[in-house]
Amino acid sequence: MFAGEIQVPVSRLKGVGPATAEQLSRLGVITVGELLTFWPRDWDDRTVTLPLSAFSTVPKFTVRATVIAHDWFGFGRMKTLKIVIRDAEGTVAELACFNRPFLERQFPVDTPVAVHGSFSWKYGGIQSSAFEIEAEEGAESKILPVYPLTAGLAQATVRKLVARALSEYGKGIDSELPASVREKRGIPAKAEILRLMHAPATMEEATRARNALVFEEFWVFELAIGRRSIERRGKLPGVSPAGDGEDGTGGPAFVPTPLQKALLERIPFKLTPDQERTLAEVNADFSSPLPMARLLQGDVGSGKTLVSFLAALAVVEAKGQVALLAPTELLARQHAENAAALLEPLGVRLAYLTGNLKAAGRSRLLGELESGGIDIAIGTHALFSRGVAYRNLRFVMIDEQHRFGVLQRSAIIEKGIESNPGKMPPHLLMMSATPIPRTLALSVFGDLDVSVIRTMPPGRKPILTHLTRHGNERNLYDFVGRELAAGRQAYFVYPLIEESEALSLKSASTMFEHLRDKIFPGLPVALIHSKVDEEEQRSIMERFRAGKISILVATSVVEVGVDVANATCMVIEHAERFGLAALHQLRGRVGRGSLQSYCFLVYAQNLTEDGKARLKVMHETTDGFVIAEEDLKIRGPGDIAGIRQSGYLAFNLADPVRDQAILTEARDSAFGYLSEEMG
Ligand code: ADP
Ligand code: MG
Repeated sequence: MFAGEIQVPVSRLKGVGPATAEQLSRLGVITVGELLTFWPRDWDDRTVTLPLSAFSTVPKFTVRATVIAHDWFGFGRMKTLKIVIRDAEGTVAELACFNRPFLERQFPVDTPVAVHGSFSWKYGGIQSSAFEIEAEEGAESKILPVYPLTAGLAQATVRKLVARALSEYGKGIDSELPASVREKRGIPAKAEILRLMHAPATMEEATRARNALVFEEFWVFELAIGRRSIERRGKLPGVSPAGDGEDGTGGPAFVPTPLQKALLERIPFKLTPDQERTLAEVNADFSSPLPMARLLQGDVGSGKTLVSFLAALAVVEAKGQVALLAPTELLARQHAENAAALLEPLGVRLAYLTGNLKAAGRSRLLGELESGGIDIAIGTHALFSRGVAYRNLRFVMIDEQHRFGVLQRSAIIEKGIESNPGKMPPHLLMMSATPIPRTLALSVFGDLDVSVIRTMPPGRKPILTHLTRHGNERNLYDFVGRELAAGRQAYFVYPLIEESEALSLKSASTMFEHLRDKIFPGLPVALIHSKVDEEEQRSIMERFRAGKISILVATSVVEVGVDVANATCMVIEHAERFGLAALHQLRGRVGRGSLQSYCFLVYAQNLTEDGKARLKVMHETTDGFVIAEEDLKIRGPGDIAGIRQSGYLAFNLADPVRDQAILTEARDSAFGYLSEEMG
């Protein structure tokens, strides 16, 4: 049986009274099965003892010593016992026994003791207040498990109870891994693993047991992912190119449909090999009876938009409707304008839908959408708002997918399901320029197929990034001035729209006036942020694109999508206030053509550790994949969009970031097992 199936309550174990049972239940331990899988968070290695003099180099250790005195400090009821010990080298240390006055009688003067703890230099001597003390005689010179306990329960109590549970119930427990998988990896039997976790003889044993459990946890998780994918889509998820960053030759070739061919003839460049490969995969998905669920990862500026347009054409040709969802109006509008230029000449009927659309125009558009008079709808959240209905919506594309929640994703898919009589779910293509770290791609997004665009269109020069301390902006303003004089354009980005009393930060509004009047007088400067009305935003972007505005002062509204190849300078002030993903996206607004581009990160004097780490990463690399991995390390997975709802954090022992290598192995193994099962 599995450990989880041992339903005997812990209270049946000798030594567990009502009080202990209550304390254990607060830790989620009610049954013996739960006690057996109540894993240590760490182990104390007491096989090695050291002299007290080791205190400054070893954070925590066991010392053998003799009690030489008792002392009390503090007054009245706050009086605290101090036990003075001396080791064989003659070094003396004081143990502050907070709330443990009873230790005085337990350890009289001259008792040989073993003390395990961390020591530091304080009040002119070696001190410890976090220690365990035992009589030398019978002191356990072992590796002791340390459980994640809350106040009330002693480690010793739990150790004793676990040992009892192990000897009475530990034998017959099975692994969740099939025997063939266990054998292949040399994973010990479950009963053995339990013993190694709770009572290892060496630290190697403890680590080996832990890794085996981590593997088991991942394996079960990946098996579920694989099964779900087979049920929904008849196959295991694939990542292309195989592995990470290898070239993806050998896949299906891209054979454009007639409309795709027509568009390719209208653009002045050739698709990159990665774009072609992605489109081959997408076309193959369309010809399968099961719906596509694909994540398209490609760094900023790698040309995902064109891929999405070409993909859409295949569906339009098959008389299906397409929805292209973008997180901001600015980006949605840019897509709509590009689509108008590229797709309308091919006879494709487009609609642009945002929340701000005026009533009359809106009802006409909605009517056409519902009757099938529209082929591709482009817009923001409005695309899945109430009252919007489609006719045979067969393909949903979500740009900058990390900006949408799980529920929003299902809302638009639901619209697709309702839009056809057979209630078929639409194909789904999610795009992201914030690459998903590999561990997340393997787990959270594990049931999606993944296409990766790694190579940039030819002719791009890597962006040069400079860090500038707040107060030293003069040089950078001069530099930008020279670029502007040469006919280039620049972005200046700030964390706030308006000055705020609470935060003494530069804001877009104030800096807009300062840059326009003081720094770059005579040059056309414009201000754009979320409170500027939509019509005004549209006209500003149009003029910026046409080169009639030299400097665009903005907030992070320009973070996603905006594509102006003549802009060569990105200045981000208070860069320490932005997250890594945002910085990477903002920097990606420049370097979009063949011109050399620059990014200036201006930072405040008092940087936090995280802030410093982010700027360092930005300075060192422009590779979005590297940045995504670093971001995950700095922030931890909990803060990354969409992760909380995904069950990603629900692992018990396993940590997908730390145990990345095991995750990859477990996934390969589970998928291998499934494909054998499928025959
Ligand atoms: P992103 O992947 O960030 O969405 P875009 O789709 O906005 O990137 O593309 C960035 C720029 O690269 C656009 O101006 C686009 O026209 C151009 N582009 C796309 N594909 C190619 C290509 N194969 N060769 C040259 N330029 C390309
Ligand atoms: Mg894009």
